[in-house]
Amino acid sequence: MNHFNIAIDGPSGAGKSTIAKALSSKLGISYLDTGALYRAVGLKAYRDGWEENDEIVSRLLGLVDIKVSYDEEGKQHVYLDGEDVSTAIRQDFVSGYGSRFSALPSVRKALLDLQRRVASEYSSVLDGRDIGTSVLPNAKYKIYLTASPEIRAKRRYDELIAKGQTVEFDKVLADINERDFRDMNRAISPLKKADDAVEINSDNMSIEEVIKFVVEMINENV
Ligand code: C5P
Repeated sequence: MNHFNIAIDGPSGAGKSTIAKALSSKLGISYLDTGALYRAVGLKAYRDGWEENDEIVSRLLGLVDIKVSYDEEGKQHVYLDGEDVSTAIRQDFVSGYGSRFSALPSVRKALLDLQRRVASEYSSVLDGRDIGTSVLPNAKYKIYLTASPEIRAKRRYDELIAKGQTVEFDKVLADINERDFRDMNRAISPLKKADDAVEINSDNMSIEEVIKFVVEMINENV
């Protein structure tokens, strides 16, 4: 197959990264988790106590080095000023920082080139919020993967409980609703379905069913 990209957008907890990872290994293409880049900025903002001010952040970002690389198993690693922060960015509070700072134009601009570079160098699947609408408007395949907030919160809740964490379902649901609202209502590159994206609602679908559906869609369209 020639070079091509797959854009997967959708709200938090819809299963984007699981689907994207499975697709990248089934199709033998790269995977870029773009949320990890916003989380790296969020982590930096948290550590250094950044103010949510676009002008100031724009200047500070000029001094920050964010890089992505892949290990032998194909796992993505994100480096913040040379430090591998792939684990640190998964902490729950970092998602809130990532989401807040991702609304700033300077942050979106700074991460755009990196995302486009990966996508132009390798056939890749990218997951995020604005891949089909803004980062790769010409991606060959576009998927908008969604599920109701309650189902997404239930999946997240089960995951955290399985990890042995003490959480309340209502708090997980409130966090998801808050992030959805912020991601969908920001002025720049808000989360929305691209006109030409295929929408998949995974409320009543297993991960395997979603993967099967997408692989068939891609094979039919080769
Ligand atoms: O996908 P993940 O939950 O890791 O993303 C963290 C935050 O980064 C999201 O809540 C969203 O605000 C932001 N993000 C974004 N655009 C993307 C990917 C993530 O604004 N392409």
